[in-house]
Amino acid sequence: MLYIGSHISASKGYEAMGKQALKLGANTFAFFTRNPRGGKAKEIDEADVQRFLALSKEHSFGKLVAHAPYTMNTCAAKEDVRAFAKEMMTDDLRRMEYTPGNYYNFHPGSHVGQGSEAGVALTAGLLNEVLTPEQSTTVLLETMAGKGTELGRSFEELRAILDQVDLKEKMGVCLDTCHVWDAGYDIVTDLDGVLDAFDKAIGLSFLKAIHMNDSMNPLAAHKDRHEKIGEGHIGLKALAQVLNHPALQGLPVILETPNDDEGYVKEIALLKSLHKG
Ligand code: FE
Ligand code: FE
Ligand code: ZN
Repeated sequence: MLYIGSHISASKGYEAMGKQALKLGANTFAFFTRNPRGGKAKEIDEADVQRFLALSKEHSFGKLVAHAPYTMNTCAAKEDVRAFAKEMMTDDLRRMEYTPGNYYNFHPGSHVGQGSEAGVALTAGLLNEVLTPEQSTTVLLETMAGKGTELGRSFEELRAILDQVDLKEKMGVCLDTCHVWDAGYDIVTDLDGVLDAFDKAIGLSFLKAIHMNDSMNPLAAHKDRHEKIGEGHIGLKALAQVLNHPALQGLPVILETPNDDEGYVKEIALLKSLHKG
């Protein structure tokens, strides 16, 4: 079963997101839990959520991959920035429980010159304050391109965060194809080797979702500029191999490519046609 979708605007609520996903030919999707720049989240409309849950069941949607705002920095040097990150994540996870059992993906932060080790400790420390044994949501660390002082530029760095999190069973990883490529993992000529490295460093059981993007830049560019599927340096053949890799079957595949609706319809249809399974 292929679960595939794209980012969808959350501004009109859950049912609208579900309907929009169906329009795109999708059976999962990603959405920002609040404005990507942060700020206050819309309160949940329970009737809207109920309508969405029914629709999602009827159409056998896969797990949703919600995305935290970009500005949330869990390992900022400034205490008030970290406090704000904690507040946002706590509130996001509370609201995620209206749609139980889905994924909440976030960028593990920028250490802004404090060094990777200090950043890892801060992000893990914040997770230890926010995660609860009762939550049904799995929180995903996203693999990052290694732009600036971003954490998550290597599988080992993500592992270092997970090592310090107490409730590991509430944690997972989202692999972004553009980001790992930009970080220097050659998924074009050695996908098996990259997944092997992931398995050795983190464990494939932690891999819960895929962000499928082509890249505007060559291997190890550390840039993070997404390109349309098949139009970048990764290319369609390599992305189709990711889509069909036996170790990655059943994971929600989310497109974050620079597209309008029509572009997403095309990419979703293309990738469905390339999925053998
Ligand atoms: Fe992301
Ligand atoms: Fe991503
Ligand atoms: Zn990106």
